[in-house]
Amino acid sequence: TEAAERFVAANPKSKAIQEQAEKAMPGGNTRTVLHYHPFPLRFARGEGCYLWDADGHQLVDFLGEYTAGLYGHSEPVIREAIKQAADDGWVLGGPNLLEARLAQTIVDRFPALERVRFTNSGTEANLMAIAAARAFTGRDRVMVFKGGYHGGVLYFGGSPLNAPFDYVMGDYNDAEGSAALIREQGDRLACVLVEPMCGSGGCLPGSVEFLQSLRDATRETGALLIFDEVMTSRLSPEGLHGLLGITPDLLTLGKYLGGGLSFGAFGGRAEILDRFDPRRPDGWPHAGTFNNNVFTMSAGLAGLTHKYTPERAVMLNAAGDSLRGRLNDAIARRGLPLVVAGRGSMMAVHPGTTVPMSPPEAGRRPRKLIDLMHLDLIAGGVYTARRGMAVLSLPMGAAEFDRFVAAFEEFLDARRPVI
Ligand code: PLP
Repeated sequence: TEAAERFVAANPKSKAIQEQAEKAMPGGNTRTVLHYHPFPLRFARGEGCYLWDADGHQLVDFLGEYTAGLYGHSEPVIREAIKQAADDGWVLGGPNLLEARLAQTIVDRFPALERVRFTNSGTEANLMAIAAARAFTGRDRVMVFKGGYHGGVLYFGGSPLNAPFDYVMGDYNDAEGSAALIREQGDRLACVLVEPMCGSGGCLPGSVEFLQSLRDATRETGALLIFDEVMTSRLSPEGLHGLLGITPDLLTLGKYLGGGLSFGAFGGRAEILDRFDPRRPDGWPHAGTFNNNVFTMSAGLAGLTHKYTPERAVMLNAAGDSLRGRLNDAIARRGLPLVVAGRGSMMAVHPGTTVPMSPPEAGRRPRKLIDLMHLDLIAGGVYTARRGMAVLSLPMGAAEFDRFVAAFEEFLDARRPVI
């Protein structure tokens, strides 16, 4: 309550805009994950890894648009690419000069991809991958994991809004149980959709044993394995599947790969993807007015070519490992029951002394403390996701990491009695 009152007092303009927004939008909101109590900050501007809210506070942006903000705000190379696209026209109504170049760059990066197709969002990429798997196998059922998030209509934490596929649900990180479930489903199961690390579920890494068991069991039954790397593809130059050496049949992508503009992609084995070849009399249809929109193609290509090179990917993820280590050290020095989970440039704080194995296990831990941490960090000039998730971006350096650690230590010391 006291933290919320302090927040209200510090943010009168955000509050006024919120009240206005509530008239036309439910709860003043169009993206559920951006809401928090008492109301979310409204942002006026971003530059590099900094944000300025409506009341003029400057914050270090550790939300990083849930991984889509990898390049930082108004990154000059990407801004130039967008300008170029604007100069050359942007609704051309035909294949343009950029899409095949971006496709080749992405295919060259990720080992699971022999072919790729673009969509407008990660949600759409997952829907298309599932649809392709069902058509390819001639089977109906889709296996997902409890608490998994794959988009607005593919959220398995109790949402009533999901796309009406025939689902079967496994437990994340349960290697034996999941393999048994896949075998039991036999030739009814079309595909298994899984994140190799649960991102918004709490940055909970999937064990190699678990992911390999999915690979082995699907290979046995003929179901397709789909890795959702919409968030995790940033975790190495070759994505997380490349780092782990486990190759799915289909891969979905999104977020930063569009340079910070609307983006999604799905791809995989040529044998499956080539069914979309429009020259085939029985080619599968897949349209989408903005699939190849020139702004995204241009920004995505510039970002991958000039900014998120394989070397920078290694560096950014090493910086994330180091920051996570410093936060966990700060906790350990105080002997507090908290833990920072994650890999590389993605992390999340959880109550408890061990990293949760699955999103439902994370959800059972006291979330009020994480809500309090979120408001305390904002008061300390650090913006993270409400659920305790923090993501690195390329413009960050020692000053921003130090500021995060200082704000986190202040939170630990101020709230020690309730932790
Ligand atoms: N898959 C994962 C793992 C995600 O984290 C998200 C978004 O957060 C999506 C899919 C959906 O992507 P989009 O928001 O672009 O539809």
